[in-house]
Amino acid sequence: MIDSLFAHKAIVLIINLVGLWLSALVYRQKIKEKTNKIFVLMFVLMFFWVNFAYLARMFGQEQVRLSELCLRIAWFVTPLFFVSLYLFVIALFQKEQEYRGQTQLVLLLGTASSFITGFTNLIIEGITFVDGSLAIIYGKGMIPFLGIVSFLIYTTLYPLFKNYFSSSTTIKRKVQYFLIGIFIFYVGNIVFNIALPLFFNVVRFYYLGDYSAIFLLGFVAYAILKRELFGIKLVLTSLLVALIAILLLLDAIVFTPQLWLQIVKGFIFVIFLYFGYLLIQSVMREIHYRERLQRMNKELKKLDRAKSEFISIASHQLRTPLGIVKGYVSMLSEGTYGNLPLKSQKPIRNVYRANERLIKLVNDLLSLSRIESGKIEIKLNKASLQKIISNLVEDLKTQAHNKNIYLRFDKPKTSLSNILIDQAKIKEVISNIIDNAIKYTAKGGVTVTLRKQKLGKQEKAIIEIKDTGLGMTKREISKIFQSFSRGTAGVKLYTGGAGLGLYIAKKFANMHGGDIKAISEGKSKGSTFYIELPIK
Ligand code: ADP
Repeated sequence: MIDSLFAHKAIVLIINLVGLWLSALVYRQKIKEKTNKIFVLMFVLMFFWVNFAYLARMFGQEQVRLSELCLRIAWFVTPLFFVSLYLFVIALFQKEQEYRGQTQLVLLLGTASSFITGFTNLIIEGITFVDGSLAIIYGKGMIPFLGIVSFLIYTTLYPLFKNYFSSSTTIKRKVQYFLIGIFIFYVGNIVFNIALPLFFNVVRFYYLGDYSAIFLLGFVAYAILKRELFGIKLVLTSLLVALIAILLLLDAIVFTPQLWLQIVKGFIFVIFLYFGYLLIQSVMREIHYRERLQRMNKELKKLDRAKSEFISIASHQLRTPLGIVKGYVSMLSEGTYGNLPLKSQKPIRNVYRANERLIKLVNDLLSLSRIESGKIEIKLNKASLQKIISNLVEDLKTQAHNKNIYLRFDKPKTSLSNILIDQAKIKEVISNIIDNAIKYTAKGGVTVTLRKQKLGKQEKAIIEIKDTGLGMTKREISKIFQSFSRGTAGVKLYTGGAGLGLYIAKKFANMHGGDIKAISEGKSKGSTFYIELPIK
């Protein structure tokens, strides 16, 4: 059917018009842009190629000399077309400088093979006709010529893949469109212009290779013109739907003789169109949502960074004045500026305590921002956990006594050897958890134990802090280790907290290769915290 003269004439005419229209669009959009200029060049070369290949077939056996001349012109522009593809890729990535040497080589090889094809018999020796279809008698230079074409394809594809991953999403999308176009074009050419004629002597479908260039121009023009490109998934889905629809339609109209079968197939075609449309719509929606999600994610990350920066700057600024307040209040209560009247002693103690709380908060915020920006490091030294706990328990005892609860440390029967830890950080971890246990216990008290546990080859030191306090629900336990997360006990009893202590403590333990876990039987049934540290 498509072999008929009329069909060819129509197709060539359509290709010319579509190509011209696309170039006009690209030209109008921004001809100063290098990629756009190269696109117009691509169109001009394709124009010569397709039309002269067509003319060669038109003149045919009646005017062999003219036919051969036209074919030579078509072949003359072929390598140049491949060169223009290469130039397009380099311009797309703006890598003209980097690929300078290679570009010169490509230009040299491209123009040389053009001239050799056009003006010598090395590649095209002559033409003949197989069953009325034009066939080329290839010369001795055909294999090297194919080598050069392969090289041109390679030099086009290599920078494409190499620069793809480091490109922005917009460029990536353009590349994807270009790749679809170039894929159809290469496959069309390799199958119909090279493989079939050269290896199987089939020349009837030669024109399909030439015509495939219009797909390339179509996809490239789309990539240039559209500001926002849809992802490759959508393009491929649409192509597939379109292809199946065309095949169904062809089958119904051309290959089905009975009317009733035609009607059935027409019905199937319509149903397919409807579902194809739904499919494309759903792919579009998915892409749309994903892109929105990505944008929001980026935005959130930016906000998160801004928040961390703000916390870091604010805390640094707060630290110094708070230190000064602490110094002066200490001196005041110690009588450095004369004895304080009895009445002012309690308020001054309150000022001191409030200031201490603020200092802890600022320190926690600083630790948080350091953890989040990955700036925190641990300095490992051999130290005795037993000693650290003993000292901490001694320090915190007054706090427990003031609340009328006990605080004890049940020392291990066999003492543990010194282990590698960052003392300051582990001290902060343990003191935070004992401090919490005291804070959130109203009756009874807090018991701290230390023991060694062997799990396979790994030995662990386990510090257990058990209290008889408010306890926690399972839901609470799953949240307390997150930053700024507070449980009911915290909100009820200790309004000054920020919910950072356990988050930081867990991070510090993790940095040692350890962990912190909590269990509780439930509300008012006490809690037990386990700090696990590997023995190193
Ligand atoms: P903060 O104490 O400042 O709220 P933390 O991160 O230290 O912050 O603790 C988070 C929450 O975990 C607290 O608000 C509290 O509800 C809960 N919690 C921590 N330790 C205990 C405990 N020993 N008993 C009951 N609840 C606790």
